[in-house]
Amino acid sequence: VIDDTVPVEIVDGSLLSLDEVRTRLSRGASCVGFTYSALSSNSLNLLANESKERGSFVIIGGQAAAGAARSLINEPFIDAVCIGDGIPVVQSLAEQMVCGKIDATQIPNLFTRTTDETVIATRHEDEDVWSEKIPPRNSGGLVPDLYWEKYPETNTLINMGGHKAGNIFSKRGCLYTCSFCARQEKRIRCRDPRRVAAEIRDLVACHGVDYILDTSDTWIDIKWAEKFADELRYNGLQQIPIMVFADSRHISPAACWAMKQCGIDSVLLGVESGSERILRENNKFTTRRAILEAVDLLVRFDIRVSCSFVLGLLGEDERSLNETLDLCSELVSKPGVVCYGNVIMPLMGSPLWTKVFGMGTTWPPYITRALDYDLTAVREIYVEQATKVRNLNVLQDACKALLHLSHLETLEYAR
Ligand code: SF4
Repeated sequence: VIDDTVPVEIVDGSLLSLDEVRTRLSRGASCVGFTYSALSSNSLNLLANESKERGSFVIIGGQAAAGAARSLINEPFIDAVCIGDGIPVVQSLAEQMVCGKIDATQIPNLFTRTTDETVIATRHEDEDVWSEKIPPRNSGGLVPDLYWEKYPETNTLINMGGHKAGNIFSKRGCLYTCSFCARQEKRIRCRDPRRVAAEIRDLVACHGVDYILDTSDTWIDIKWAEKFADELRYNGLQQIPIMVFADSRHISPAACWAMKQCGIDSVLLGVESGSERILRENNKFTTRRAILEAVDLLVRFDIRVSCSFVLGLLGEDERSLNETLDLCSELVSKPGVVCYGNVIMPLMGSPLWTKVFGMGTTWPPYITRALDYDLTAVREIYVEQATKVRNLNVLQDACKALLHLSHLETLEYAR
């Protein structure tokens, strides 16, 4: 990490089976870091336990880990949970390993335990996103070509173009508080547009990438986009199309113009519901009319639009589901527009989780313990507590009907 004295290996479960991951980890390491997501809790439980038994320092990170940190740090086989930027954590950890002793209480951005088992949050330290180095795509033994081989079967984003897509991010964080979202960083930090353009240039020159997905939560920042467009022109990259995530409240003629200057040809809009009541109750303050106007503007600028919906938000009932299907019917009649949706996945750390499971009742372990998360069980209890639909099947049927409107058959997870 800091130099060759701390070798790092990245082991990716999206390319390897659980047994292959276990074999790789069985070689032992001073420190093993795991990404936590609600859907990987079973394998994380097993792998983290085995790593701890072998004497490794076990640290958990990733977007969802910050939301579930208070539960994760109670596991005896987890030494620390990253609750902020990961790079200062890894750098500090590597420096300590070179000196021969890990003291998590002195590493920034962690939940960890002191010697008397008290849980503490360590000091906060931001990564300098403005001047960060461009990460080599073959870091830690990764083989980028393996990802492109699997790209057709692993890509879940419709409306993306190109034959060989690469990913970047230009911004971090989001200021909104959608009820279902467990993102913890409530501020926006933009990378230097020059570095973002240089990273795209490297992806094109070294790997033959012909399409870019920018995974920033909410991409639109007109002033930043103008500088980015200049950098793309300077590097001769105007012909590389880009897909971004955006909020319909940010779509304006000026924003569409700026997006076109940056080569953006596809936008994923988190619309979430066709019911204004549901949007309000779930902290998404916009109207059906404003959503339609935003989509019309994008269509006029010849930008493809994927509208994503979450079925089963707080207060959902059959009427609001019908309003969502009505809005979808109208949206998919527009050129280049598709709609897709997911049944709600209640996540620890999201506002709706706090509202529904926050206090007052003794909940079962699949609610209170992050590593016992069971999606079907959580959904069933959530639907009963927080919506007015009869059961989970009603949401699943509505989801199928929604996908059918866009001639899609598979259920996809957008976030
Ligand atoms: S769902 Fe998107 S817009 Fe809403 S809070 Fe999360 S990142 Fe922000």
